[in-house]
Amino acid sequence: MRVALFGGSFDPIHHGHLIIARAVAEHVHADRVILLPSRLPPHKPNVGLADGSHRAAMVQAAIAGDPLFEFSDHDLTCDGPSYTAHTVAHFHEQFGDETELFWIIGADALLELHTWYKPAEILAHCRVVTAVRPGYEVGALTELGAILSADKAERVRGDVVQTPRIDISATMVRKRVAAGQSIRYLVPENVERYIAAHGLYTSHVRAN
Ligand code: ATP
Repeated sequence: MRVALFGGSFDPIHHGHLIIARAVAEHVHADRVILLPSRLPPHKPNVGLADGSHRAAMVQAAIAGDPLFEFSDHDLTCDGPSYTAHTVAHFHEQFGDETELFWIIGADALLELHTWYKPAEILAHCRVVTAVRPGYEVGALTELGAILSADKAERVRGDVVQTPRIDISATMVRKRVAAGQSIRYLVPENVERYIAAHGLYTSHVRAN
């Protein structure tokens, strides 16, 4: 079996997430994609951010009825910060060596991967597969190359997938809601309804 894990703040989940996750899954022939909303970093100012229960509900609404996608509350409920290294180790243990694991990220996240907690350990458990993202060009990844073995760094560079370039961000969605603008077509309809019903993102917009 091939399982792709997709972590993020999903504040809220939007069509960029869904389109790139499906495209990456097709590229690596994943049988399942598991979406993992993360706990929000406690040190970040969290005005205007949605509670984990809302973000989880929106992820579940967005993927309802799609057999490729599943939701996991692993990162929301784990003790302490949700480090990807711990998450992939958990799923590796759960699924065993027979299952090939992938971790989906966007190009913006790949450019920061060298700052993550134990990148080499992440890559010991899974292949990190990157979706292209408008505004973020994947260059030589020199900093990442400096902390990984040559073969691991080469694999990460080779695992950049030319997914559709979707210029949607959760920041854009939150800003539009706060400004009273439509978010139609940026997020699934039931996510749009959820945001309206719960009055999410109507005030206080964080910069990012
Ligand atoms: P924010 O605007 O709040 O920073 P975001 O839109 O980047 O949020 P996240 O939930 O932080 O969304 O992203 C989760 C993962 O999805 C990250 O790896 C990010 O790079 C990737 N991602 C999000 N949107 C896109 C997109 N439009 N294209 C490619 N990758 C994306």
